[in-house]
Amino acid sequence: MRWSGGIMNREELEKLLETIPEEGFDCKNRYYKRIPLGRAQDITGIEYTYLVPLFKVNYNNSILTHWLCKCKCGNLVIAKTKDLNSKFTKSCGCYHIEETK
Ligand SMILES: [Zn+2]
Repeated sequence: MRWSGGIMNREELEKLLETIPEEGFDCKNRYYKRIPLGRAQDITGIEYTYLVPLFKVNYNNSILTHWLCKCKCGNLVIAKTKDLNSKFTKSCGCYHIEETK
């Protein structure tokens, strides 16, 4: 998979999506379930540092928009739109580790 910044190739994204269950657990063992986009901004496929949002999910019945993201390292992780935009959440947790190597 390329990680060149910008937006992920649609074809690659579609292929990736086929392999991701619509409900399950992220790498931190948090339960997610896919929900319709609704009025939320579609950020699918946009690269946020190490993360690419795959689809909108319900997490903990939160009213905030959460996304299931694929991390560069391969992990799936739930992140809030707000935290992706502010770069508060850059990865599943592997980003910092790699930085300090
Ligand atoms: Zn990671």
